[in-house]
Amino acid sequence: MKTLKPKLELNIAKTHSYDILTGLPDRNLFFDRLAQSVAITSRTKKIIAVLFVSVDRLKVINDTLGEAFGNRLLIGLVKRLQGCIRQSDTLARPGRDEFVILLPEIRYPEDAAIVARSILSSMEKPFVLNRQQYSVKLNIGISVFPDDAADPKALLSNAYTAMQRMKELRKNTYQFYSPAMTEKAFERMVMETGLERALQRGEFLLYYQPQIDLRSGLITGVEALARWQRPGVGLVYPGEFLPLMEETGLTIPLGEWALRSACMQNMAWQKAGLRPIRVAVNISANHFHEHDITHTVSRVLEDTGLAPQFLELELTESIFLRKIERTIRALKVLRKMGVNISIDDFGTGYSSLAYLKYFPMSKVKIVEPFISSVAFSNAEGVVARAIIAMAHTLNMKVIAEGVERKEQLAMIRSLDCDELQGNLISRPLPAGKVVHLLAKEKRY
Ligand code: C2E
Ligand code: MG
Ligand code: MG
Repeated sequence: MKTLKPKLELNIAKTHSYDILTGLPDRNLFFDRLAQSVAITSRTKKIIAVLFVSVDRLKVINDTLGEAFGNRLLIGLVKRLQGCIRQSDTLARPGRDEFVILLPEIRYPEDAAIVARSILSSMEKPFVLNRQQYSVKLNIGISVFPDDAADPKALLSNAYTAMQRMKELRKNTYQFYSPAMTEKAFERMVMETGLERALQRGEFLLYYQPQIDLRSGLITGVEALARWQRPGVGLVYPGEFLPLMEETGLTIPLGEWALRSACMQNMAWQKAGLRPIRVAVNISANHFHEHDITHTVSRVLEDTGLAPQFLELELTESIFLRKIERTIRALKVLRKMGVNISIDDFGTGYSSLAYLKYFPMSKVKIVEPFISSVAFSNAEGVVARAIIAMAHTLNMKVIAEGVERKEQLAMIRSLDCDELQGNLISRPLPAGKVVHLLAKEKRY
């Protein structure tokens, strides 16, 4: 955090920029930083948040217990506030019982609510001074750039207004300048706690989407896709819960659960006498990097008894952006074990052909928009053909996913794809329905 305690030799002209008691930037310095952030951020897609924090009843404490006492309390409070923000954030003290925080770079407005909640919960433990306990209550108003205001002055004043509203309501909590944002942040918090509980309570289930081999027309694999059976709401799709789980680290337990459940399910189908197929499990980049994934996979295979050739891990291109050496090593171990590795959504992200060359994969999944564009533009068609040819040269299979329309099918065949997955063949299905499809041995 940029508190920058003034050094003794600091020239006099600058000392007025810091609050003498706490060493924090004062209103002017804060405003400078805010204006600078707004100027920089206007050119990017980032979001800035300003939190206006007011301390309840500080005047009463000063009046009854003395100013020296109030000051000690303030210093303790500043320490707690500093513990809730990042090095790159700015905490300032514009008034006696007021603080402002600049979060210069957040991804979603709701991130500001996370900081506000962490500040409020840091106040739950009373302060101990002269062996007495004192509880401090805060009101926090939040405004975000560019949604709530386009210039620094309005941004600050909107945060103040939101704080003032809170104070009037005597709620001791936080509020966004825009009521809709408060609601959204609240929904997000409910969802976040709901997701953690959902994992513990086993509210997640897997749907399976068939993948067919284009030569035989038979189902040769399924992709396991997570769904949340949210009580009182119904089936919730990954688009709604995955980003939040990613931020809170919940994709790791979700991934372990999905891996184990999918392998168990596949083993159950085999035990029921059905023709063995592969099951593909999506593995998030976090899960892959933060855990010893090779160890997890071998343990799950051992526990469930599934042979490695019937498991496929779907990884996204984003895993190749970090810890490259380690990633290649882990992939080699997995391939040596006999596990299949596919690269998901190839053609949407960074899509470097080099990935195919350097990372030992068994399959490339190319996505529907990419395949569609082949039909309309020759240049794209050349690229698609190049990817497919290169994958084949490197001994990788190519699956087209998200295929919805019949006319795409002919094109995919002409492109020499190996496999197909999409709503044209079948939507993702509950495990029970997959049994029927497998038992029928239907050729598509
Ligand atoms: P993905 O791995 O690329 O999965 C394919 C998505 O496309 C699925 O959405 C599937 O239902 C959808 N899809 C398949 N065929 C068609 C089609 O013909 N048309 C259209 N419009 N869509 C089609 P879903 O199930 O909502 O999953 C979204 C994403 O969430 C997945 O994309 C995957 O990245 C992620 N995901 C799902 N389950 C898990 C999981 O267990 N763990 C992790 N880490 N990620 C998961
Ligand atoms: Mg996938
Ligand atoms: Mg995909």
